[in-house]
Amino acid sequence: MSHVVTVTGVSKSFGSLAVLKGVDLDVARGEVLVIMGPSGSGKTTLVRCINLLEEPDAGHIHICGQSISCGPNARRNRARAKAVRQLRNRAAMVFQHFNLFPHMTALGNVIEGPLSVRGMPKADAVALGERLLERVGLADKRDVYPARLSGGQKQRVAIARALAMEPEVILFDEPTSALDPELHAEVLRTMRSLAEDGMTMVVVTHEVAFAREVADRVIFMDDGRILEQGPPAQFFSRPAHERTRSFLRLVQ
Ligand code: ADP
Repeated sequence: MSHVVTVTGVSKSFGSLAVLKGVDLDVARGEVLVIMGPSGSGKTTLVRCINLLEEPDAGHIHICGQSISCGPNARRNRARAKAVRQLRNRAAMVFQHFNLFPHMTALGNVIEGPLSVRGMPKADAVALGERLLERVGLADKRDVYPARLSGGQKQRVAIARALAMEPEVILFDEPTSALDPELHAEVLRTMRSLAEDGMTMVVVTHEVAFAREVADRVIFMDDGRILEQGPPAQFFSRPAHERTRSFLRLVQ
């Protein structure tokens, strides 16, 4: 099976707090992987480590031919910095709080990466940006600034911005948790349509219905480790660990 993401032995501490304790993880091409777990279990840190927004203390990240070793013995030279940039382009991130550029329109946000990172000619970037805004149902918001968009619309612009990098995988860090409940559906619908198109996705979320219907596999993190994982039908109906059962009683 071809893996888009391979994480081996990733550990991360903040000061004396060990947040990831040797995580191993593979994500197959086209797979939708949902990561669940209690607050503070290391989910966000894990996805930030996958695209090296957070530098692991130890371990190895491999995304589609781009391999990065982490830790005190990893060489920090220009070649590594370049490899990190390439890896980030392959693993786009969608954040809880959208992280749009407030001084740019919806289109401006979507085409910034293609223009400045991919070096795409402006006309091509605009055509791509318009197509992607259409894809997330926001063609009419092309010239609108983020301050005039709803949270759900902002997150859909952020998804279009991630797609504009033509990534191998999109990492979603609690994409609906900053939104009012009535805005969750539009974002989840967009994510579901990406999944149907075969996008490889890693999604940190507490959205059980989404995980049940869209995920190929659900991972449960507890205290910096993957405690258990499985296909959603098995994960939600027959969790192996009491920790998982008590967590699911809270979110279902
Ligand atoms: P989760 O996403 O499962 O809620 P996080 O990965 O966000 O967990 O956080 C795990 C732990 O690491 C928490 O205790 C959090 O406070 C701590 N943490 C996360 N980021 C930082 C940071 N940049 N500096 C210090 N502590 C952090």
